[in-house]
Amino acid sequence: MNIILLGYPGSGKGTQAKVLSQKLGLFHVSTGDIFREELAKDTPLGLEVSGYLSAGRLVPDRLVLEVLKSRLSKETRGLLFDGFPRTVEQAEGLDAWFDSRETTLDAVIFLNVPEAEVAKRLGDRRTCPKCGKIYNLGTKPPQKPDICDTCNEKLITRDDDTPGVIWKRLQVYKDQTEPLLAYYKSSGNFYEADGGQAPESVAAKIAAMLDGK
Ligand code: AMP
Repeated sequence: MNIILLGYPGSGKGTQAKVLSQKLGLFHVSTGDIFREELAKDTPLGLEVSGYLSAGRLVPDRLVLEVLKSRLSKETRGLLFDGFPRTVEQAEGLDAWFDSRETTLDAVIFLNVPEAEVAKRLGDRRTCPKCGKIYNLGTKPPQKPDICDTCNEKLITRDDDTPGVIWKRLQVYKDQTEPLLAYYKSSGNFYEADGGQAPESVAAKIAAMLDGK
């Protein structure tokens, strides 16, 4: 099974992707995580994408598609995309890649959350740099302030979760990613979930939608 999670930054794609990929045995593909890892390791790719990430702009389609194709060429599990595609060009590239592998896209799940809510969530988001666990100061705080419950590491605010960059990322979403809703709505595999609810209840709704797929 191949699935795409769509939605604003902060709509809960990362959180849902972790639950779903475990439950369904899928390989979780987060392009944002890939770029942040490369950046942390100071690789040539990390250096190339660094300016885009810190400004909240999209990495060029050609580069995103190249990176994914090389990373996924040997992957045999089903794929769960989180943060990809983000443009119609990327979606077309993914379609062509699926065709070349004689496989198909089974579901596109749109996590619908109002813009004001995602802006607040992004500002309150804290992340564990070690295990990637995501917290929210308002709705899901760590037990000890600023410390990861799982690995005791000090939590960080992502560089792009600062007010100016959050604003830019939301603009970029509306301009470049939102057109994907129309692109996929006619596919027959499009599902919408109210992402404004608690993560457990969103996960249960998604599981119910995918039941029987
Ligand atoms: P995310 O963690 O998904 O919010 O991604 C963080 C940043 O990585 C984005 O603001 C972009 O700069 C870059 N990025 C992640 N995924 C993509 C993508 N599919 N296309 C272009 N840029 C991306």
